[in-house]
Amino acid sequence: MSLANAKQSQLLCKLARLLSGNLLNSEDKQYIIEILNTPLDDPYRITNTVLAKVLRQEGFDISSRTIDRHKNQECTCYRKVNK
Ligand SMILES: [Zn+2]
Repeated sequence: MSLANAKQSQLLCKLARLLSGNLLNSEDKQYIIEILNTPLDDPYRITNTVLAKVLRQEGFDISSRTIDRHKNQECTCYRKVNK
């Protein structure tokens, strides 16, 4: 995970902010990180849709699209800061 190296938290997407903030305990964060790192071909994989649904039930405004973008490194976390 390169997120810890992110210099400015406002450049992180909602998912990364959730993972770097203190709204979740470290156990929950670890669980989410494990889900994000699970290979797509793992039959027991929890899908982004399910993860997003659970997070929304917990009161977090995270969509499966947000998770998709973070997983695919298309979110603000991975956007080049220096041009
Ligand atoms: Zn992100």
